[in-house]
Amino acid sequence: MNKEIGKLIVVTGAGGFIGGSLVARLRALGQQRIRAVDIKPFDEWYQKFDDVENLILDLNEKQNCEVTARGASNIYNLAANMGGMGFIENNKALCMLSVLINTHMLQAAVDQKVERFFYSSSACVYNADKQKSFEAPSLKEEDAYPAMPEDGYGWEKLFSERMCRHFREDFGLYTRVARFHNVYGPWGTWDGGREKAPAAICRKVIEAKLSGKHEIEIWGSGEQTRSFMYIDDCLKGIDLIMNSDILEPINLGSSEAVTINQLVDLAEGFAGIKLHRKYNLNAPKGVNGRNSDNTLIQMLLNWEPNTPLKVGLERTYAWIYDQYVAREKGASFSSAAAPKPVHTGTAAR
Ligand code: NAD
Repeated sequence: MNKEIGKLIVVTGAGGFIGGSLVARLRALGQQRIRAVDIKPFDEWYQKFDDVENLILDLNEKQNCEVTARGASNIYNLAANMGGMGFIENNKALCMLSVLINTHMLQAAVDQKVERFFYSSSACVYNADKQKSFEAPSLKEEDAYPAMPEDGYGWEKLFSERMCRHFREDFGLYTRVARFHNVYGPWGTWDGGREKAPAAICRKVIEAKLSGKHEIEIWGSGEQTRSFMYIDDCLKGIDLIMNSDILEPINLGSSEAVTINQLVDLAEGFAGIKLHRKYNLNAPKGVNGRNSDNTLIQMLLNWEPNTPLKVGLERTYAWIYDQYVAREKGASFSSAAAPKPVHTGTAAR
């Protein structure tokens, strides 16, 4: 038997989109001992597997991180209080509190002599000044400094990246850090306030198609540029980076830049409709231009996320369509279809 297969692998945030998909992938690869941890009640986990050790724990609490790390060989730390722009712009304190999860998980990993620790950082660590124009150059790893990340969420990610580095340097913990750029795919949040642009646009187009009301609200001017990484690429990248010699944070994202308008074009194409576009310039819209420069990952791994947006988005659209229709019919549907509503209004600051 492959020795790796029998080791205990821990995934935190396993009730969420990427964590749940990672557990599914590890199972598919034959991993026999998996511990999946999330704060949410089981009926809200997007994917849950009975042959896995599933735990509901609040990882803000140190003692819960100790339970989580006990006996683990590898930890994939994906737990965070997060969402799309609507969530992170209005819940900065909550986003920053995820520092408790990362601090306690790192400490627990050292105490438990964990072999490998993966941390999911974000493109939100990049300096805002380098993302001001719609045609901003793709972001290289060095563009995180001088530091001026996304307020709240981005600062927490940047700080936790550095903690991973210092735990590696000072305590010898094997840490690997990937900066995810916008991940999408089936099992992602698509409603309720935490959803990101690809899922939100698919849902709005589906709503318009099924209701016959052929208009769509777009946050911002629609000219913002972004890149979107399909979940399968994200999972492959996590695996490659976790098992690599790459010590510094590295981009894990697609380099296929599109405008939000082009994203809407694609979703309209799947639906076979054209919508009247209403632009809400007061809505949270994030930076103007963001794309992943993949020179480093290409050089070090000879690979980069490569699922064309059209291919991944069509699969995602079909999945959200099914969830949407099931919800409308009141049939049984995945918990991903009924996320708890979150605060997305304008908060007092
Ligand atoms: P998600 O919200 O679907 O999953 C995160 C999970 O963490 C949720 O299920 C949540 O319940 C859990 N969690 C939150 N607080 C917790 C706590 N105190 N204790 C235990 N569990 C807790 O998000 P995701 O898209 O799967 O993101 C996974 C990771 O990737 C996060 O760290 C996120 O910041 C990072 N990331 C995601 C994207 C993206 O586009 N999805 C982009 C950049 C970075």
